[in-house]
Amino acid sequence: MHATQPTVIINDTTLRDGEQSAGVAFTADEKLAIASGLAAMGVQELEIGIPAMGEEERDVMQAIAGLNLSSRLMAWCRMNEHDLDAVKGINVDLVDLSIPSSDQQIAGKLGQDRQWVLAQVSRMVSAGVDAGFDICVGCEDSSRADMDFLTQLAQTAQRAGASRIRFADTVGIMEPFVMLDKIRRLRSACDLHIEMHAHDDYGLATANTLAAVLGGATHINTTVNGLGERAGNAPLEECVLALKNLHGIDSDVDTYQMAAISALVARASGRHVSWNKSIVGEGVFTHEAGIHVDGLIKDQRNYQGLDPLQLGRHHQLVLGKHSGSQGLIRAYQDIGIELLSWQVPLLLTQLRILVTRTKRAPLASELMDLYMALDARLAASDAGATQEGRVCQLHPIAS
Ligand SMILES: [Zn+2]
Repeated sequence: MHATQPTVIINDTTLRDGEQSAGVAFTADEKLAIASGLAAMGVQELEIGIPAMGEEERDVMQAIAGLNLSSRLMAWCRMNEHDLDAVKGINVDLVDLSIPSSDQQIAGKLGQDRQWVLAQVSRMVSAGVDAGFDICVGCEDSSRADMDFLTQLAQTAQRAGASRIRFADTVGIMEPFVMLDKIRRLRSACDLHIEMHAHDDYGLATANTLAAVLGGATHINTTVNGLGERAGNAPLEECVLALKNLHGIDSDVDTYQMAAISALVARASGRHVSWNKSIVGEGVFTHEAGIHVDGLIKDQRNYQGLDPLQLGRHHQLVLGKHSGSQGLIRAYQDIGIELLSWQVPLLLTQLRILVTRTKRAPLASELMDLYMALDARLAASDAGATQEGRVCQLHPIAS
């Protein structure tokens, strides 16, 4: 146990909801590697699969259990006997028993009513507890559920012996202000742990997850790189860093390992991380604009909202269309060339032409080419005979 208790517990579902992303299928080895990686970085809980999917899924889940990781393991089940039976024999600690909580899904999906749901919760939670599991009641489509009914469902789950309720924003329609209010209401209506499960359909999964924590959620579901159904789930990297840096809420996750787990999941899922993806994207600590580069060179804190060192990364200064003199001078220093002041504006012009054509930062060899071309052009100008006034102005300084 740590000296200071983390104030939020990450329940990462990369291996369950993450894999539900259309077209994603991890091999057993990939699942073992991802589970090990997440455990090594201190993620306290892992939702590792759906036993009712069949023998192969159960074998992999049991293999993960056999690793004796430090993380507690959870299985996802629909709230029925068939699914609960399927998890028996797998050494997981926690079972999420999921049941629709909105009238839309209760009637439209199950053809049932609220009373049936409450009776099912009562019966199945007791059965799960009797089977030796720590039970979380997954309230599917909580966001569209009537709040009075959702609190009634939570109280029923608590009476039957559940330890946790999951607020699932299944269709991803929550926004942070309503989220905060709903979790506060749940918080005051029951003593259960509350777990937030957010989807990113409106790009608000992280914001909703943060709001839920502020409202009293004790656990949050995340996935590495935000992998998951449709637009995905709340990204592990965003939730961990935002909670820690913006709210002072620690999850005890080692952020130094974020880049490695992100790369591992990107490879295994076949879903590459975009260049500008927050926290883990290749370009998120890369600066080109002259004003920013100049400010960073003076003091990194001038343009730093997130310290790259938290992730074992560094600021990268690159040249591009928006580069200024300082960035250019520095880049040439890096390849061993001290520019003369008259060379700087000319090279900036040439640089802009180059990067507009190549759509990327220049290579060192290309910078050298620009420099040599400048020299050649000056020689060809025959000591001022050129018609190009801009070049003519240089000659007095060049001599
Ligand atoms: Zn989900």
